[in-house]
Amino acid sequence: MPGKNPPSALGSSSAVEDYLERILELINSKGYARVVDIASALKISQASVTNMVQRLDADGFLKYEKYRGLVLTTAGEKLARNIAHRHKLLTDFLRLLGLNDRVIYHDVEGMEHHISPPTLRAIEALVGQLRRRPAFRARLRPLTR
Ligand code: ZN
Repeated sequence: MPGKNPPSALGSSSAVEDYLERILELINSKGYARVVDIASALKISQASVTNMVQRLDADGFLKYEKYRGLVLTTAGEKLARNIAHRHKLLTDFLRLLGLNDRVIYHDVEGMEHHISPPTLRAIEALVGQLRRRPAFRARLRPLTR
């Protein structure tokens, strides 16, 4: 069972979540995730990606084989799906508030790492309410321009 990802020289659990999120995206869109693809998705060097991938392997989140690429373990996939769910829910929420895509992406990438399950559940309920209240949403628009 992977631990709580205490901060280390290679970064915090936010970095772990960012990696797993990108890896799952790559696997979903291309069928595989290679170090070179992760490096270009995260805009960092292949050497840094290799270090992190080795750490994620040691922590039990993925299996890394130099020439065959990498696969997420059950634990890694669970964490990746969890962050992808948070990302989507928070994106839906901010979009319903009328924010533009650039602001949404920037804010969601920060918020998704720090939000607790109770807050997430409250936002999930709020998203449901906002969907059913176009008149109320229209009143928020001027605030988010
Ligand atoms: Zn995200």
